[in-house]
Amino acid sequence: MSFTTPSSASSSPLPDTTQPWHTLDIEQALEHLESDPDRGLTPAQISQRQQQYGLNELTETGGRSPLAILWDQFTNIMLVMLIAVAIVSAILDLGNGVFPKDAIAIFAIVILNGLLGYLQESRAEKALAALKRLSSPKVRVLRDGKLMEISGKELVPGDVMLLEAGVQVSADGRLIEAQNLQIRESALTGEAEAVHKQPDAQLSEDAPLGDRITLVFQGTEVIQGRAKVLVTNTGMQTELGRIATMLQSVETEATPLQQRMSQLGNVLVSGSLILVALVVVGGMLNRGLGLFEELLEVSLSMAVAVVPEGLPAVVTVTLAIGTQRMVRRHALIRKLPAVETLGSVTTICSDKTGTLTQNKMVVQFVHTPGDTFAVTGEGYAPIGEFRIQESAITVEDYPDLQTLLTACVVCNDARLQQEKQEWTILGDPTEGALLSLAGKAGFFEESLRQQLPRVAEFPFSSERKRMSAIAQTQNGEAITSYIMFTKGSPELILERCTRIQQGKLTPEQRGQILAENNQMAGNGLRVLGFAYKLLSDIPPDGSWEDSEQELIWLGLVGMLDAPRPEVREAVAQCREAGIRPVMITGDHQLTARAIATNLGIAKEGDIVLTGQELQKLSQAELEQQVNQVSIYARVSPEHKLRIVQALQTQGEFVAMTGDGVNDAPALKQADIGVAMGITGTDVSKEASDMILLDDNFATIVHAVEEGRVVYTNIRRFIKYILGSNIGEVLTIASAPLIGLGGVPLSPLQILWMNLVTDGLPALALAMEPAEPNVMRRPPYNPRESIFARGLGLYMVRIGIILAILTIILMVWAYNYAQESGDPDRWKTMVFTTLCLAQMGHAIAIRSDTQLTVQLNPLSNPYVLSAVTLTTALQLMLIYVAPLRDFFGTHWLSPLELLICLGFSALMFVWIELEKLVINWFRRRQTAIG
Ligand code: ADP
Ligand code: MG
Repeated sequence: MSFTTPSSASSSPLPDTTQPWHTLDIEQALEHLESDPDRGLTPAQISQRQQQYGLNELTETGGRSPLAILWDQFTNIMLVMLIAVAIVSAILDLGNGVFPKDAIAIFAIVILNGLLGYLQESRAEKALAALKRLSSPKVRVLRDGKLMEISGKELVPGDVMLLEAGVQVSADGRLIEAQNLQIRESALTGEAEAVHKQPDAQLSEDAPLGDRITLVFQGTEVIQGRAKVLVTNTGMQTELGRIATMLQSVETEATPLQQRMSQLGNVLVSGSLILVALVVVGGMLNRGLGLFEELLEVSLSMAVAVVPEGLPAVVTVTLAIGTQRMVRRHALIRKLPAVETLGSVTTICSDKTGTLTQNKMVVQFVHTPGDTFAVTGEGYAPIGEFRIQESAITVEDYPDLQTLLTACVVCNDARLQQEKQEWTILGDPTEGALLSLAGKAGFFEESLRQQLPRVAEFPFSSERKRMSAIAQTQNGEAITSYIMFTKGSPELILERCTRIQQGKLTPEQRGQILAENNQMAGNGLRVLGFAYKLLSDIPPDGSWEDSEQELIWLGLVGMLDAPRPEVREAVAQCREAGIRPVMITGDHQLTARAIATNLGIAKEGDIVLTGQELQKLSQAELEQQVNQVSIYARVSPEHKLRIVQALQTQGEFVAMTGDGVNDAPALKQADIGVAMGITGTDVSKEASDMILLDDNFATIVHAVEEGRVVYTNIRRFIKYILGSNIGEVLTIASAPLIGLGGVPLSPLQILWMNLVTDGLPALALAMEPAEPNVMRRPPYNPRESIFARGLGLYMVRIGIILAILTIILMVWAYNYAQESGDPDRWKTMVFTTLCLAQMGHAIAIRSDTQLTVQLNPLSNPYVLSAVTLTTALQLMLIYVAPLRDFFGTHWLSPLELLICLGFSALMFVWIELEKLVINWFRRRQTAIG
């Protein structure tokens, strides 16, 4: 076949991409887009087309619109109640002929709070969108004759892109060639069944989308096979672009905590409404209508006081900070709930290859019937020697070895490249190592490709654990014949062999090969078996069961994939944190055990379950064993799903890694689905909650640690904020009960406290670094209530203590102020005491166990800054005249201020004493226990 080379791209107008592409044959399509199937576009064409057609992106139509985010702020039930309070307050003031300052201020703060919430949420949403873009797919393309990997958004019409199993298609295109190509198009057509695509089909113009089997579409998933595709449409011109509404949208799931917070909001609002009703009705029954207005004012203040106005914003910000911290440690959160729930993980099921190991394979031994070769050299550089008993040999003298090395190159989808001195690979490291091995004997793809052009293949999958490539051999002009090379799991390949090159494969030889395999695997090597077969015809697509039979055995290749050095420590950390690491691998049980033992995942004598054994177990039997098994070897992706389910029924909270297309169901089922950032397929990433940017097991452990920190901090400021609300409500309610005339705190002052003087320190508390014991305690139950483990009790207890302190001060200040010139100044003293007591609370609550003097004040400088700033603001409210007028406060003498400060300080003292007592009890308990 020959194609016209594209004419110089500079002058000619760009091709029109609105064509009935499915009706064009391959040559017509290529000609129309002026592209070359073997070289792709030229750099000049690319830059011209990038300008003309723009980036291959869907315009973000998804997510919530700004207006929707804003509206959501005001549909929050707590804000609705505040608005109601403002309205009642306005009516009261206007009825009295007073300017409705409180009402206006409440409205202002409601709007401000709404805007703040809006800003924070839209920023969080943007941040998530940016994170998502970070994980956007890469595409392999042919450009200017070179194979390269580019970001999907750089694609232009005319590009030649390569697809393989696991990839999400980045643009619409016409198939140039395809092998066993199965594509799931449910994103587009809703049809769950995969479509078998064929480049040569004849289609009529009115063929529906689902039947256009010569085309591939953006956003669909390659389930199996591979293809070379001519990109026809990009960006909004794609089929997906035309219907795009929500597909690019970021998932903004409310986290469990956010859901509970809105539930809490409902409880608080209904609770406060009941309280209001009680106080008003009760008060009127007791004292008649005269006090109605004062009681109403008390009720309004209580209603405002009970609502933690600042809490939702603080929670949102904390989660956003959590995702940032995690991404700094290479864990990309895709679904917000993962931030909170990560800390609860009890079992981490991890792949071996690449996650626990470095995925940098180096072949160390080759075994053919008769000889064992040691191979030298480092990395992927094709430089090294084949040795028998320490002395180098010439490969030409060993025909078996030669055929095996040919198989390494032909039955291979990776590329070995040299870039600036350094040898790198494109593709699967297992295969890269084989190319490098062959290169050490002078066998390179460039030359072998011509001698043995590949004509068909049976692709690799984790289920099959093997692959075959069929190449055309050139012996003579008249007859063409073919050779099939197969490689994969040694046991499986050997089962399908009947011969070796020299003759029949005897049972002793089989035994020898298996023994050699076990020997290498037992040393932690990844072992592949090789075989071949001569064919007279090209076998049809998908006929592997029949074709991969009666093979001729070639030999074994053992490669080293060293464990990642940092994983050992991460495993130890897991154990300390009450998390059980489990290895799940497609590799041989002996290889798996050697590496698991090295890393501390398995101890001598631990149970190893193989895929075959697992297959025979019923789900109930699996559930019984699942807690004892720390290695699963030779498993298929579908087993992973069963393992997760079994662990979950045993009450475990499971994080599970995966990279392949077929791992997606297990990732979805897992409580935390973890995809690989580097080697992971797009499909697995789509299904995950979190992506490891460095594919590293240790990163999961770091993310768990950050998750625990986030959760602890959230609980910390909830205690802090709600404790204060309870204190305020009790104080306000007690004033009329004790018989003090007037409401101690106006709604405006309460809003100020809840939003500013509680809000700022709460934000600072969210920044608290990890406590030293975060990873030395077992995980908490993810389904526990936020009030669990003493939090509810703490809130109520601290609220009462705060109220008692303030009420004592209030009674004293009330009597004291009656005799002074300004009788209402007692209210300002109450206001100030409540606010300053919370400053002491903020400082003391940084740790539950350690005394404040034991903490480094600079380990969270934000708390100190927030306390300083807040105290200064509070003083301004008392000493700056316009603010004083606005907030209705009164001037305090230095002595009065000092008295407030003294009472406030007692709050701090109380909490520190509590810690002492609790620590004393704990020590006594451990001494007894
Ligand atoms: P894992 O990633 O856990 O090591 P895989 O599913 O990738 O497991 O591989 C399972 C087995 O399939 C390997 O142990 C090996 O025997 C075989 N295998 C892996 N990669 C290839 C490949 N590219 N070609 C042929 N066989 C392979
Ligand atoms: Mg693998």
